[in-house]
Amino acid sequence: MSQTSSSLTLEKIIALSKRRGFIFPTSDIYGGLVSSYDYGPLGAELLRHIRNLWWEAMITRRQDMVGIDSQILLHPQTWVASGHVNAFNDPLVEDKVTHKRYRADHAISAWLETHPQTEDIQVEALNLEQMGELILRLKITSPEGNEILPPKAFNIMFQSAIGVVEGDKMPVYLRGETAQGIFTNFANILNSSRLQLPFGVGQVGKSFRNEITTGQFVFRTLEFEQAEIEYFFDPESTDWQALFKSWQDAMWGFITETLGIQPEHLRWRRHSDQERSFYSKETYDLEYAFPFGMKELWGIAYRTDYDLKQHIEFSGHDLSYTDPKTGRVFVPHVIEPAVGINRILLMALCDAYWEDTQNSRVVLRLKPSLAPYQAAVFPLLKNKPELVEKARSVFSQVSRKLAVTWDERGNIGKRYYAQDEIGTPFCVTIDFQTLEDNTVTVRDRDSMIQVRVAVPELTGYLLQRVEE
Ligand code: ATP
Repeated sequence: MSQTSSSLTLEKIIALSKRRGFIFPTSDIYGGLVSSYDYGPLGAELLRHIRNLWWEAMITRRQDMVGIDSQILLHPQTWVASGHVNAFNDPLVEDKVTHKRYRADHAISAWLETHPQTEDIQVEALNLEQMGELILRLKITSPEGNEILPPKAFNIMFQSAIGVVEGDKMPVYLRGETAQGIFTNFANILNSSRLQLPFGVGQVGKSFRNEITTGQFVFRTLEFEQAEIEYFFDPESTDWQALFKSWQDAMWGFITETLGIQPEHLRWRRHSDQERSFYSKETYDLEYAFPFGMKELWGIAYRTDYDLKQHIEFSGHDLSYTDPKTGRVFVPHVIEPAVGINRILLMALCDAYWEDTQNSRVVLRLKPSLAPYQAAVFPLLKNKPELVEKARSVFSQVSRKLAVTWDERGNIGKRYYAQDEIGTPFCVTIDFQTLEDNTVTVRDRDSMIQVRVAVPELTGYLLQRVEE
């Protein structure tokens, strides 16, 4: 019944997002800003639901997890230690004619799609030099068909400065990922809590990257929200492969069950030895079939003790762990599942988008717990005060437990149409019968089936349906 990703275009999602108030281009009145978007009333709710569901599943409901909230601006040495200052690079190529710049791996992949080769080329596995050779050998051109210059490394950290006096400013970076705030707080967390290995620390917050590739809507933006976990363990007493698998299962379960995404639109992709970072022993990407291809949604990497060791070296602080049973002192290893909240939002919109041609409507078949509003309440007619008054009391009853919206404009058909498009799973109508027997009509978004429910039972009924 659901529309497959192949027949869905990104343009449809962009248009619906703007039309209904999910996502607007940033600074729209000034012509926008490259790869930057604002979230409107519905987008803000959807983001909040995704963020809260992630926090609840990954932190609140687990005994072995805690959360933190570290700063966007960290001590600049953090980024030297983490390798971001020297190696957080994207390969960049420049069109010789238009001087437009593209991410080299993306430009090569796009060219290969229209110029299929008999040899198997794994673009993700190529280094800067190999990309340069390939561009020369295959005469790869820019998307505009012009020659391109050899690829160069381009650091994608955003720089700023603390202080106002010229010459006395301290250069700082807007964080390129949230994870480093977890590593730099490792000793604080350990010393202030009763945690013992294995345990994990998660956080959600803004990250910034000076991305080169544009035009992928909220899939890739300069400013975005990340939800990252560092799961610390002792490699001598914990089987990392089993732990890695259990995190993969947690990720898969969150996406398919908690968020209700269709499993056939997802797949795991293992990084090859060439693609994987030198400190990583294993990396997988959970990919989703976006309208522009199978792309990374959520990455998971076994980063060994690399990060903590780097911070020990650069800070001079002891970040080791003492096993309370054996007294053995060692630096814990980590498994890192890292996802972008905005990418999850884009996936949720794509996965839910359904053109119900039989009933001439567009429906966002979002899981009820994810939908911006879980119910809409309408008085059948807005000029009948007794209906409006009753509807207001129903609204205030239901809104104590659920996210509810109010609509009294136009006819009932138009209201249903509008609620279907924003994914509201249940519409509650207060009509003349309500005044007689205290029941309301509840209409189901997907099946369009309507049932009568008694007002005193309404909140319980809706709560149960939302959690189904
Ligand atoms: P990509 O290969 O797409 O650039 P990455 O491998 O650099 O991503 P990570 O550093 O592993 O990404 O970041 C973890 C997660 O953060 C990604 O899986 C993605 O969901 C999200 N993310 C990364 N960069 C962006 C961005 N520019 N905009 C939105 N989300 C992002």
